[in-house]
Order: sequence, then structure tokens, then C-alpha cells
Amino acid sequence: MTAPAHIPVGDGDASAGLTASAAAALLQSHGPNTLPPAPQRSLLAIVTGQFRSLIVALLVVASSIAFLVHDVSEGLAIVVVILLNALIGTATEWKAARALDSLRQQQRPLARVRRDGHARQIPASDVVPGDLVLLSAGDRVPADARVMSSANLQVDESSLTGESLAVLKHSAPPADPSAALGDRPGVVHTGTTVLAGRGTALVTATGRATELGHVGALIAALTERETPLEAKLAQLGRAMLALVLALCAVIVVAGLLRGNPLLPMIEVGISLAIAAVPEGLLAVTTMTLALGMQRMARMKALVRRLPAVEALGSTTVICTDKTGTLTQNQMTVRVLLVAERQIDVTGQGYALAGELQESGAPLALTTAVSSDDPVRLAIRIGALCGDASITRSGDGEAVLGDPTEVALLVLADKAGMPRHDLEAAFVRTAESPFDSLTKRMHTVHRTHDGSRVLYAKGAPSSILGACHWELTAGGRIPLTEAGRAAWLARNDGLAARALRVLGLGFRMLDTDDQQPVHAMAHDLTFVGLVGMIDPISDGVTETVTECRRAGIRVVMITGDQIATASEIARQLGIDHADDGTAYRAVHARELAGLDDAAWERVAAEATVFARVTPEHKLQIVNALQRRGDVVAMTGDGVNDAPALKAADVGIAMGLRGTDAAKESADIVITDDRFVTIVGAVEQGRMIVTNILRFIHYLFACNFAELLTVFGAIMLGWPLPLAVLQILWLNLVTDLFPALSLALEPAAPGVMQRPPRDPTQALLTRRFASVIAWQGLLLATCTLAAFGIAMQWHGQTGAGLAQSVTVAFMTLSMIQILHTFSARSQTASIFGAGLFTNRWLWTAVTVSIALQLVTVESGFLRGVLGTTPLSWADWGLVWGFACAPVPVIETVKRFKRSRMNHAPIGCRPG
Ligand code: ADP
Ligand code: MG
Repeated sequence: MTAPAHIPVGDGDASAGLTASAAAALLQSHGPNTLPPAPQRSLLAIVTGQFRSLIVALLVVASSIAFLVHDVSEGLAIVVVILLNALIGTATEWKAARALDSLRQQQRPLARVRRDGHARQIPASDVVPGDLVLLSAGDRVPADARVMSSANLQVDESSLTGESLAVLKHSAPPADPSAALGDRPGVVHTGTTVLAGRGTALVTATGRATELGHVGALIAALTERETPLEAKLAQLGRAMLALVLALCAVIVVAGLLRGNPLLPMIEVGISLAIAAVPEGLLAVTTMTLALGMQRMARMKALVRRLPAVEALGSTTVICTDKTGTLTQNQMTVRVLLVAERQIDVTGQGYALAGELQESGAPLALTTAVSSDDPVRLAIRIGALCGDASITRSGDGEAVLGDPTEVALLVLADKAGMPRHDLEAAFVRTAESPFDSLTKRMHTVHRTHDGSRVLYAKGAPSSILGACHWELTAGGRIPLTEAGRAAWLARNDGLAARALRVLGLGFRMLDTDDQQPVHAMAHDLTFVGLVGMIDPISDGVTETVTECRRAGIRVVMITGDQIATASEIARQLGIDHADDGTAYRAVHARELAGLDDAAWERVAAEATVFARVTPEHKLQIVNALQRRGDVVAMTGDGVNDAPALKAADVGIAMGLRGTDAAKESADIVITDDRFVTIVGAVEQGRMIVTNILRFIHYLFACNFAELLTVFGAIMLGWPLPLAVLQILWLNLVTDLFPALSLALEPAAPGVMQRPPRDPTQALLTRRFASVIAWQGLLLATCTLAAFGIAMQWHGQTGAGLAQSVTVAFMTLSMIQILHTFSARSQTASIFGAGLFTNRWLWTAVTVSIALQLVTVESGFLRGVLGTTPLSWADWGLVWGFACAPVPVIETVKRFKRSRMNHAPIGCRPG
């Protein structure tokens, strides 16, 4: 972001802006510049709507029956269960909502204003009427304001007016308040976005007083579409609901046919339904997502839209910027080619240490600021034709602006011609900012003798294209085709060293030439080339390798030239596939006029796109998506917004990115690093894995409960569980272990398997069959324990109560222990990760303790109808509770040996 220091501000007073104290007072009187938040459609609302009301209804029916057929205490106990159920549900929701809130807090927008005569960045909520806001391309307009000065200031007002064309703004007399919103060229509005140019504007209204504030109610009424994950979960929940109700009906009917009395049988049916309906599914999912997002935020990835998390985990292609994401974006000029000379530059980063050398010897430059020596001219153009700034102090340097331009300032410093001195002699009078389409920037300066000169810098081919002359040691000569080819060859030489190359040029202007800057930028004289290194960031090479193992292709998209980009791709190893086939590097030139099929081919074959414009990004996203890829795309500029929206995961850069890019993105990476992107992908995979883990656990256990009761009825046995015991299981054993699975901190190997297919249902056939046989296994073991206990104690009276207690304990312990098995479908529970989840151990310990209390406490024995157990009974309970473990372990071992690369976690299959 560059301060528009060169825009003359019309209004003398306003140019200084408010003082900080005046602003503080205004903030007091006007209140913060915020709008009521748009309501976020919450998963939780669905939870409550879909399941909780059903559960409560069922519980009410159950408690009425209990009051009828049993004593009051059982009815009361069921009421307590209703309350506990509601309490736990609310607590889960509250936790998730808190996590989401704190994330929203971290995404507060900023605004640039001039206060006390200085440009400064403040939270947009602190903007007050009277503030002078500074606007440049990509900024979100923070308040309604009157334009005071502008340079090609173009605004996208579609959010307010629906008009999608850019609107040109300039200072104009205060608009007629009755004019339509779209007809106020002198006013900018909150919520609109600057597309191009720059300007300053005097804030007239903030918060609810703005035009957006007036229509705010309208916007708030718009709700979001259901997300794929939500849809899948809701679908799964409905399917389970139908299945559970059907099974319960079957159980009730079977029980009646076996001669059980009606009301108690209905009661059992209802309690089973309550136990088996996966009412926690959406709540726990939301919590998993919310906590995952919090974890991601700590890792510098802010999730703006929940569903992006799932897409992130399924990403097959990451399309990333080169500069600043793969590379450090701390440029250092290495070489300067001027006339026939080559000047080498030493030094690291932005530090002042370093010198200019020619043929190994230090270069002696004349000291005159306005010398016409070609080397000095080149350095001067580089330093003056830019908007960056660098402030050096005792403890390093503070830089502002584009690193490419900072590097040129550092070069000028090393050459002993700091920008400050240059600016005094060459006053900037006009400019056309860097444009990623033309890849050039121009400035116009008035020299001490009153003449005017235009300086240009930009991509070498672009600058050469505008030149008719070149500067040689002997002075200016016409630029011939051979001369142009020679410069391009020298450029290629630099690019092959992975250097970022800029061309420099100038033109003396007629003093009375009043055309716009870009119209004067022709007939230039080419001065030379400057090559700068931009080292690959720490960790990027390793991360790229990690992506490869994870089945993710990395595609580099850059405005830089193809030779530089290819060299960096080669250094990173993204220029070839695992099997050695080379990927292509494509120049934007080849992309013109491609049809859909050709686009798809290119998208499949290329990992480098050079000299691209933002529109190409959109086409690349579309082509990849047509091929079935799940695309994560990075962006920072205002023109990247469409591609970010179109991508499955739009990733905006937090440091470099414009407001426009951030608002279109699903995720904002606050440190702009590629490593963070891949870390977020890993988190996305882990979150989905955790959701599958607790689905695995919850469904297998619920299924086991149903089968246990069903099996007993079919065997002609008494019911193995009392009504309240079933409800207790639902509260105690299901809940805590399931929650703890949602908090699994790691899934070793998530990045060593291919991405999950996002079109796949959550419950694939294979996954369902795993759940089914494990549920069957747990039920069989429980019934076996119950059967043996009945052999020992008999089928009636106190003996039956003791046998039922054995069944109850066995089923609960078997479920609690199943938590460990549900952590992975393939990895052994005794693997390295046994102790990594402390929540799991806490949940297991607490659940077992609570379970023991049910037989040790006289009170709970009274409520639940349990009895004390003998040592033999305990042996039975623990024996059968542990029995499934070796069986499941053996199956896992068999699966592992079948899959040579053992995917860990819950990837079904
Ligand atoms: P990227 O960020 O992918 O490297 P850019 O669009 O920023 O691509 O830059 C593309 C090209 O434009 C660069 O290779 C360089 O030649 C030129 N360029 C970049 N920044 C500037 C600038 N501030 N002024 C002039 N030219 C620039
Ligand atoms: Mg750039």
C-alpha cells in the first residue's frame, strides 16, 4: 500500500486531516463506524430445529408413560435427562459460537486516514465524520465521503446500486441529496470498493448514517446458501433418523409379538430412538469446525467461510503467486546493465551494506545529483519512478510499499544518491501507477532548469516496446531491431538466473504537453536493465515436497517473465511430476483465444503460467474445475476478486492483499506465506478426519445399542437394558468420548494420502460396512455377557436385575473403549499416537468413573435400577468389554498389509 503523497489535495484545511484528539471526541459523539452485523446462518439453528425438538418431544412422551406405568421418580428422572440434554447442547453451541465470534473479531477491516498531517492506518470502526480518508485500488471505502482529490479514481458500487460497471469519481460540488445513488460522482459510499486510481475523501457520514446503513436491513435479510458439508450432514442425519425410527418400530413390534406388554415396550422403543438419533452430529461438527478454525487462526490462516474448510481438505491443486508467497518478496538488486556495462551490486536484503562494482572493482560515481551519466540516470529512474519508502534507524529499516521498488531505493542508497536528495531536484508532477496489465509505471518530473521528463520502469519487453532510442556510452542512438534483440537476450540471461528484471526508460517532454501521463509514454529512450533476486522463502521447498506426497499439484501463477518463473519452478521441483514427466511453463501469449478443451489441456499440463493477467486466473480456475480439480487460488489485487470467488478455496494475502481480495476470499493468510497455505490444507483434512472419526464412533455405538435390545428380543430374552439406563448411556458414554474425538489434535499421515473426493458422501458404502460390523461385534459381546450372567443369576427378580446391570456395564465399557478403535480405521490403537489426545483420556476416565458410580452409589442404583456386582460379574464385564479390541486390531492389521502405504485416520477404506 502506498500513500498517495503526490495527489494535490484541493481543500487546504482538509489536507492535514483531523487531529487525533478531535477524532477521539467525534468518535465519542458519533459512536463507532459500524453496521449491525449481518446474521450468520448457523448450523446450530438447524440442529435445534431438526433434532432437538424431536428428542424433547420423544422424551416428553417417554416421561408421560413413565409417570403412568412406573413411579413418579422414574418420570422425574426422565425430566432431568431432558434438562441435561438441553444443557449440554447449549454448552456445545455456546462454545462453538464463542470460537466463531473471536474469529470474526480478528477480521476487522482497517482504513487509511490522514490525521495530524500524517497518513495512518486505523480500524475502520474508528473513522469519524471529518476524517480525510485515503483511497487506492483495492480499498474498501470505510464511510460515506466527499471526494476531495482524485487520480483516475474508479469505484465499484455494485453492492449498493447493482451497477457492475466501474464509476469514475472526482471532486464535484456537493450532490443534490435527491440524486440517485448512482449519480453522485463527487461522493463515495461505505461498502463500495475502489477498482483503480487513487483519491482522498472527506468523511460525511459513518455507521448507520451511511447509505449502506439505510439499506442495511435489506442486506441483512439475505441468507447464505446451504454449504456442501451442511447439506451432506443434514442428509446423513435425516437418513439416520429414518433408519433409527424404522428400527425402533421393528423392535417394538417384535417385542409385542414376543408377548412383551405394550406401554413399557413403547417406552423402550422411544428411549432407544432417543439414544440412537444422532442429535449431536451437527452440533459437534460445528464445534469441530469452529475449534479447527481457531487452531488455523493461530497458524495465521483466518477462515472467513466455514465450508471452505472442507474444500481446503479436498484441495487437489494450489494455484499460487510466485512473488511474496513462494519467494520472500525481499528483493535485492544484484546487477545493473547499462549501455555496454555491467554493474554488480553486493549486499543482502534491504540493508545498506553493500556496494556497486564493475569488473570486480568498486565503482566510482560522480556525485552530482542530476548527472547524465547513464548509470546514475538508471539508478535515478529506479528510485524516483516508484512509491515505496524506506526509513532507516538504529535497529534496522522500516519499509513501506512494493518490495520491487524498495529494492531500487536501496540501490540508490548504496550508490550514495538517496531518494530524498533526488526528489528535491526532480519534483514529481504527475504519475500513472503500476498497472499489472501493461506491467509499467510512469512518473513525470520537473527538473531544476524547468524542463520536464518522463521516467518509466516496468517489464523489459513492455518498456522496450515503447522505446525508439537507446542510451549508449556515446549518447542516444536509435533503437534498431538488432539493438532490441540484444537487450532481450541480455534480459534472458538475467532471467535464467531466476532474477526479476525491470527495464528503465525516459523521455524529455515538451513543457506545454498537457496530455495524460500514459499518453505521453511513447518514443522513450531505453536506459538499461536491473536484475534483482527474490530468494525462495524458508520452508517452501520442503512444503512443496509435502504437497506432492499429499497428492496436491502446485501451480505457479505470476506476472513475472517465463524464464524467471521457470527457473524458480525448477529450483522448487514443481516443474515435473512424480513419474518424471515434465510439466509445461506457459506464457500468457499462448492462452489467447483457446477454446474450453484446449484450456483444460493446458491446465492439466502446466505448472507455470507467466505474464498472466487476473482474467487468466479466472480461466485457469474454471478449466481446472471442469477437469474435476478442487482448486485453491491465491490473490491479492482488486482484479483477483472474481478468481478468488470462483475458486473452491479463495486465499487472500493478509499483508499484501487489498480489501477487495480479502472480501472475496474464503481464507485470509495473514503472513502471506505458502507454508501457511499448506498448513491450512492439513488442518482442513484433519477437521474432516475428526468429523468422520466421531461419526464412526457415534454410529457404531448407537447401532450396537439398537442391536443389543433387538437381539435380546429375538432370542426371547428379557430386555437387557432399562429405559433410564439407555438414556444414561446416551448422555454419558456417547457424548464425552464423541466430543473428545472431535478434538483429536493430529492425524499422522493426513498429508501422505491423496485428497478426499469432495463429491463423496460422508458415509461411503465401505465406511458404513465398517460401522455395521463393528456395531454388530459390540452388540454380540454385550449379549454374550448378558446371556452368561443370566445363566449365573437367573432370568427373574433380583437375579435379572444383576444380569441387566452386567449388560449395562458391558455395553458402556465396550463403547468407551471403542473410542480408541474409532480414532483410526487402519492404524493400531497401540501406535505412537496413543497418548496424543489428552481430551480423549480425560473423557474416557470421566466416563468410566461415572459408570462405576452407577453401581457404587445407592442413589443412582435406585434411579437406574442397577445392583452391586460380584468379582465374577466384573470379570465378565471387563472380559467382554475388551473382547472387540483384538478382533478389530486383527482386521486393521489385515487392512494395513493390503494397503502398502497405510493411510491413517478415518479415510473410509
Ligand atoms: P508477480 O507479482 O507475479 O511477480 P507482477 O504483476 O507484480 O507479478 O509483476 C509483473 C512484472 O511487472 C514484473 O516482472 C516486473 O517486470 C514488472 N513490475 C512489477 N512491479 C513493478 C513496479 N512496481 N513498477 C514497474 N514494474 C513492475
Ligand atoms: Mg507483484
